[in-house]
Amino acid sequence: MLKKFLYTLWISIFVVLLILGLKNGSFFKFLSAMEDRTFDIRQSILANSGHRHHNPDIVIIAIDDASYEYILDKYGEWPLRRDIYAKTVDYIEKTNPKSIAFDLMFVKSIKSSADADSKLIEVFKKYDNVFTAMNLDNQPEDLRVPPELPEKLANPKPITADEDFMEFSNCRVILDGILNATSNIGMINVARSDDGVLRSMPLFLKYQDKYYPQLGLLVATHAKKHLDINTSNSSVILNWYGPAGTFENIPLYKLLKAVETNNTSAYDFSNKIVYFGATAASLFDIKTVPVDKVYPGVEVQATYVNNLLDGNIIHKAHYGVNMIIAGILAMLTIFAVLRLQSMPVAFGLSMTIYAVYVMFTYYAMRFNNVWLNIVAPLTFALFAFIITVIVKYLIKSRDFDTQYKLATTDGLTELYNHRYFQEQLQNQVSHASRYESPLSLIIIDIDFFKKFNDNFGHQSGDAVLRQVAFELKKNVRSADIVCRYGGEEMSIILPNTKYEEAVNIANKLCSLVSSKKCKLTNGKESNVTISLGVSSFGQDGKTPKELIESADKRLYNAKENGRNRVN
Ligand code: GH3
Ligand code: MG
Ligand code: MG
Repeated sequence: MLKKFLYTLWISIFVVLLILGLKNGSFFKFLSAMEDRTFDIRQSILANSGHRHHNPDIVIIAIDDASYEYILDKYGEWPLRRDIYAKTVDYIEKTNPKSIAFDLMFVKSIKSSADADSKLIEVFKKYDNVFTAMNLDNQPEDLRVPPELPEKLANPKPITADEDFMEFSNCRVILDGILNATSNIGMINVARSDDGVLRSMPLFLKYQDKYYPQLGLLVATHAKKHLDINTSNSSVILNWYGPAGTFENIPLYKLLKAVETNNTSAYDFSNKIVYFGATAASLFDIKTVPVDKVYPGVEVQATYVNNLLDGNIIHKAHYGVNMIIAGILAMLTIFAVLRLQSMPVAFGLSMTIYAVYVMFTYYAMRFNNVWLNIVAPLTFALFAFIITVIVKYLIKSRDFDTQYKLATTDGLTELYNHRYFQEQLQNQVSHASRYESPLSLIIIDIDFFKKFNDNFGHQSGDAVLRQVAFELKKNVRSADIVCRYGGEEMSIILPNTKYEEAVNIANKLCSLVSSKKCKLTNGKESNVTISLGVSSFGQDGKTPKELIESADKRLYNAKENGRNRVN
């Protein structure tokens, strides 16, 4: 009883917590943060397993620490003069690259460098495969008035199912000359999850009610006209090829040396996508990604382009699929718990099923680029496990009650059986002798029952037996224990009852039974009578045996004296 109460209390608390959690959403947020972590782990294992292959045609020109030092030494200033970039582009173009992309922003120039800037602008006019970046932001209007961007940079509204575009109120424009010269300008804003990790990249960004593509999307579309991407999302989840340094990295200073000496045979960029970007820690373009804590922004761009080109963007499994999986896991769990006798074995099997599922999610990500949820389905399955264990326990305890009832009662009359009678009589005798309290016993036998059976049949005999038993039980106190002693004999143990009281009760029962019309199986009614023998603790004996013998003897006397009476 207490246990049932505790379990009910426990479940109630759990449900209340669950509802509270669902209500303010923090529970879901917690689950989703955990899910992100499982994604990171899967990605890290994949990225380090050698099963992921990046596109060898993507090359990074890395502005690393060494190049930063070289540029300061050689040219005496940072950033690098833009005519040097122009020369470098000319150099690369000689070997026919697919495209050149700058993950750098050529923002407004200072007067002294206007000449150098114009050289770079020329490059953008000359080549249609050179791309550069711009960044949207939310700077206040009193710092800069939000600029209007050239019409050619905007895209028509992309057809997407979700509307969660990243939206910005301001923009830091790049050189007017470049803005005029080319439309190969993409945005490089990134989206981080709440925990600061970069897992997805926007396809389009919203600014002044127009939609601007990501730089990587422009580069990928230029390299391959028909990208196999699902445009129903405003962003894509990246699939990582390895930790920082996975892509071919050429330090900028090495390339600059080749440019300066006009060493045309040093590098061959034919058919390559060449990405310029900072990898030096001192230049602060460093992100945290699932597979690496320190990962350069330009490699994020390279990963993004690579994902788009090779069609291995990560797709989240549909909500319904995750629900079905949760349901299957829960059902397997419930099956295991209900079917298996041993709880540790059921627990072990459930854990094994979960482990197999986790493995499965890994392979789904490896071979199909699908992100199947782990946390929510397993939470659901574990919840099912706990509930099932509780339910099973409750069923078991109810089973125990049934077993106990079966073991102590008589099936025909539903009175206590002979064994229980002996047990209880012993207990009551012990109790009576310890506390010197009264105790009486009545033994009852139906009169001429053999004849009754002969006259009306055994079935009717059984029915009458049941009705007499019911009549006895109905008319004694709840503390009195009515038993089927055997055959058509019954007994009543009466605790705290003196002999005289017991005789009164016996007389009452005797007349009640004799006046009762018993129903027979043929629909008719008939009467039976009973004879009763009474004995009491102390005066008739101090052991169960003596009490039974005494009551039996008086019952015999009652029969001898004409039946339907008490003795
Ligand atoms: P008396 O008045 O002397 O007790 O006569 P009696 O016929 O009742 O005595 P006896 O002990 O000879 O017979 C008992 C009969 O009770 C025999 C048996 O057929 C019947 N009986 C015992 N148990 C059951 C039962 O479970 N169902 C039915 N229908 N009859 C039973
Ligand atoms: Mg008998
Ligand atoms: Mg009898």
